[in-house]
Amino acid sequence: MFEKILIANRGEIAVRVARTARLLGIKTVAVYSEADRGALHVESCDEAYLLGAAPPRESYLRGERIIEIAVRSGAQAIHPGYGFLSENEDFARACADAGLVFIGPPPAAIRAMGSKSESKRLMAAASVPLVPGYHGEDQDDALLHAEADAIGYPVLIKASAGGGGKGMRVVERHEEFPAALGSARREAKSSFADDRVLIEKYLSEPRHIEIQVFADTLGNAVYIFERDCSIQRRHQKVLEEAPAPGMSPERRAQMGSAAVAAAQAIEYVGAGTVEFIAEQSGTFYFMEMNTRLQVEHPVTEMITGLDLVEWQLRVASGERLPLLQDQLRIRGHALEARVYAEDPERNFLPSIGGIAHLRTPSPAAAVRIDTGVREGDEISAYYDPMIAKLIVHGEDRPQALRRMADALTHYQVVGVNTNLEFLHRLVTHPAFAAAKLDTGFIGRHQEALLPKNVAPDATVVASLALAELEFARAAARRVAQSSGEPNSPWFAADGWWLNSDNHRIFSFEYQGKPLLVTVHFCGTSYLIDLPEISLSATVAAVGEGLRVNLDGEEFLCHCVRSGEDRILYRQGRAWRFRHLDALTHAGDSGGGGGHLTAPMSGAVISVLVKVGDLVSAGQALLVMEAMKMEHTIVAPGPGRVLRIAFGPGDQVKDGVELLELAAAEAA
Ligand code: ADP
Repeated sequence: MFEKILIANRGEIAVRVARTARLLGIKTVAVYSEADRGALHVESCDEAYLLGAAPPRESYLRGERIIEIAVRSGAQAIHPGYGFLSENEDFARACADAGLVFIGPPPAAIRAMGSKSESKRLMAAASVPLVPGYHGEDQDDALLHAEADAIGYPVLIKASAGGGGKGMRVVERHEEFPAALGSARREAKSSFADDRVLIEKYLSEPRHIEIQVFADTLGNAVYIFERDCSIQRRHQKVLEEAPAPGMSPERRAQMGSAAVAAAQAIEYVGAGTVEFIAEQSGTFYFMEMNTRLQVEHPVTEMITGLDLVEWQLRVASGERLPLLQDQLRIRGHALEARVYAEDPERNFLPSIGGIAHLRTPSPAAAVRIDTGVREGDEISAYYDPMIAKLIVHGEDRPQALRRMADALTHYQVVGVNTNLEFLHRLVTHPAFAAAKLDTGFIGRHQEALLPKNVAPDATVVASLALAELEFARAAARRVAQSSGEPNSPWFAADGWWLNSDNHRIFSFEYQGKPLLVTVHFCGTSYLIDLPEISLSATVAAVGEGLRVNLDGEEFLCHCVRSGEDRILYRQGRAWRFRHLDALTHAGDSGGGGGHLTAPMSGAVISVLVKVGDLVSAGQALLVMEAMKMEHTIVAPGPGRVLRIAFGPGDQVKDGVELLELAAAEAA
């Protein structure tokens, strides 16, 4: 076994490889870009070396420099992870030339599977079933068109050198073929500098089922069962599971044997994945082979109890496969969700920024989190914006599904947008629970998965106000404890100083709209006034969350504060509000009395108090609008309203007096 390896990758996969290496007593060398100084993967390794600037070309793709570092640091092998240099034949060869072991297949196997057309010709020769199609060398337009006609429409044009869904075009009719061919070629040329294409039958409602294979240098090869990756968005995987729902043992053995035949046909060594496309009937066809560890390998680990990185390291150091085919078993069901920093409401655009707050479900035997980011880290524009892979195991699929839904409700990310709610809707969708899977699932259920304008209802807004109250109460307790007078009524946060009706008014904003919530204190419970409804409530803190009861309905929720932002989490959903009281910079505030002035020129929208009213600290008094933003003027301390200078609709200039308050003592 190796004593030291270099991990030529970043993020969760580098952290994950380092973890297994440590378990096996292998020292690890990290490499990193300037954007990744202090990243988790750097901390996870024993040594770390800077590669260069953030763009991959100047860092993680610098094969020569990586090899130089490996040699200098005394590493014996390089683990490439996935992406970057993992399927680069030249890099694999350069490692060998430098006397290093490339933890992956031989360069020739990478080359054999590098071209979709070439690999299909090889697979046909090995009797692996292929989607009916044309994979020939001759790229004449008229010939391709005639081949498409012979296959029968719809057909799919694919770039031979393709990957990531690029250079792929569905053609529905004979007449559309020439234009689609032209555009597929242009995209292939610009993405892969190779405009060769292949054509195949376009299957309707297919499933993506892939087989994990493993081979050693001694001629042993096994399949470690299948993963269903049918839940895709634009041909990119979103959710993966193992085993594939509805897979019969006979079909599994057929697909497994076909995958092993594919691997043996190219003298494969190490971990690989043979991807098949399957019709609903179960008939399956070879699509491509990925000659590396896959992102979704943890679902296979969860149902087998194996560590595939350990297998990779053993095989690369010349050991025999730890287990042979008849020693492999499936136990239970596993699901993986890819948690991404992206914005589902804006067509899943990557969401770049700092992670201000991060809470994950607690890792356990049945809940695994593979991640490379921590609270405070940046999601940069240079790399894949994946935050984590959340993997769960269950005794069966329904249990795994419930665990996934529950785990997703315990995931909180503030600072970037995420697909967490989208994932929650996906795993709780009845059609997903019924395993009606195909690659068109997301497109077909778009409406349910991406509902428009789901504004927070009264119970959400009421919960938010209760959470805010709990924050104020906790803050008051802290002040009281440090004051030496823990029982002083001056530190009570229950609004006692108001004479008849003890209440507090909270002012929030949701997507630019103001929300005022009045919370009345009624002994141990509350009455919450919202514009359209009043709710009676109790609230209790449980851990970092709150158990809220509203008119008899009880639920758990969490509220996270980040500056003026308030993010309320409840049952897999999150709503982002702004707390307006903290926004105000009104006038001189001396002790609750004084003159409250306009922080900027604008218009008064509403006045929330009357002359003579007693007000509490932080109570919203007046709302104004300036530069398309709303500003709430709040009472700097307890007091009485002496004068109100303006009414709704009035234009005011920066610095003019809006209200006059008398401090509570003088009132
Ligand atoms: P890439 O390497 O660009 O990701 P693949 O060949 O792996 O391309 O295909 C990606 C996805 O495209 C598959 O998972 C499947 O959803 C879809 N796909 C591929 N081939 C077909 C086909 N013949 N019919 C229908 N869908 C297909």
